[in-house]
Amino acid sequence: MTRQRRLVYDVLLRDLDHPTASEVFLRAKDQLAGISLATVYNCLETLTEAGLVKQVNLDREPSRYCPNLNEHAHFFCMGCGAVEDVAPASRDGGLQGWCIPSGSRVEKMEVAMRGLCRRCAAGEEHSVETAASGASAPDRSAN
Ligand SMILES: [Zn+2]
Ligand SMILES: [Zn+2]
Repeated sequence: MTRQRRLVYDVLLRDLDHPTASEVFLRAKDQLAGISLATVYNCLETLTEAGLVKQVNLDREPSRYCPNLNEHAHFFCMGCGAVEDVAPASRDGGLQGWCIPSGSRVEKMEVAMRGLCRRCAAGEEHSVETAASGASAPDRSAN
């Protein structure tokens, strides 16, 4: 893995808030001043092809990136734009809740849920960053 790819991957692993390529670029730039947006796109593509990162798409919004390789769905907050991982309650990845056409075999499942995150539902003012890191998350600002 090249240094730049490693950095892009680290950025995705640090905050699991599903950033877009431009958001990854802004975070990576803080650590490696010379990195370009094109390089970030290339790294994201390579990481996705390597199966280390999943591309998350909703409608025509820019793609977001997720390093969580466990089976999960995505919850999109219509209030603040936060994207959160939703783990299936059952071990088969949630397939039990669906009537799959008989004889078919599901290889991959992408479930998108829309609604209001905990904070938006409670009517709290907040930024996407705080919503994504969660109110109970430990303070990670100290390096
Ligand atoms: Zn929200
Ligand atoms: Zn995810």
